[in-house]
Amino acid sequence: MTFAVPPLDPVGLAIEDSEALLPVARAYCIGRNYADHSIEMGGNPDREEPFFFTKPATAIVPGGGEIAYPSATSDMHHELELVVALGKGGRDIAVGDALDHVFGYAVGIDLTRRDLQAAAKKASRPWDMSKGFDQSGPIGTLMTVDACGHIDDAPMSLTVNGETRQSGNVNQMIWKPPEAIAYLSGLVELRAGDIIFTGTPAGVAAVERGDSLHADVAGLPALDCTVV
Ligand code: MN
Repeated sequence: MTFAVPPLDPVGLAIEDSEALLPVARAYCIGRNYADHSIEMGGNPDREEPFFFTKPATAIVPGGGEIAYPSATSDMHHELELVVALGKGGRDIAVGDALDHVFGYAVGIDLTRRDLQAAAKKASRPWDMSKGFDQSGPIGTLMTVDACGHIDDAPMSLTVNGETRQSGNVNQMIWKPPEAIAYLSGLVELRAGDIIFTGTPAGVAAVERGDSLHADVAGLPALDCTVV
């Protein structure tokens, strides 16, 4: 097969204690999946079906590090999230089978141009440019299920310059990973290498150039980023 221009190299996530990388297929994100964050964003956590948006794989920043402050915003927010990586695809996956499709877990940050998102919501327009911009998805090192089990009850926190901004527990998710995988697999055929950002607890706030972010979910390697 020959291509008219060079094809993109796959984005690979590091795996703890492995030389191999997990190639990112697609990055799906669940919106408003923690009640306290749903309320802070003006939602109603009791009534919503899960909903999804995406980031292109090219937006993922394996290992974090330096994140360039993006264009076209003056209000970039951090959203601390558990990321679920799939090792096996499928469609119409049953909730009871969904965890068999999980390769591993990592800490991620869903960086968001909050001002553009607010404008998009107001105009009933898509969120792509508020969510799927370059470097909008730093992700830490993956732990395989064999190494860490399933992360369903783990304290999580995000600090900016050492000050705690977000803290919660992955057990506070409204739609748990098995339900999210099952629901999503009814909308699209999932593929090995797909990743799911599973939503954020309350405390999202703006970051500025020079800020250092430290994101942690108990049992997983921490993720550090600096905004430049
Ligand atoms: Mn998010």
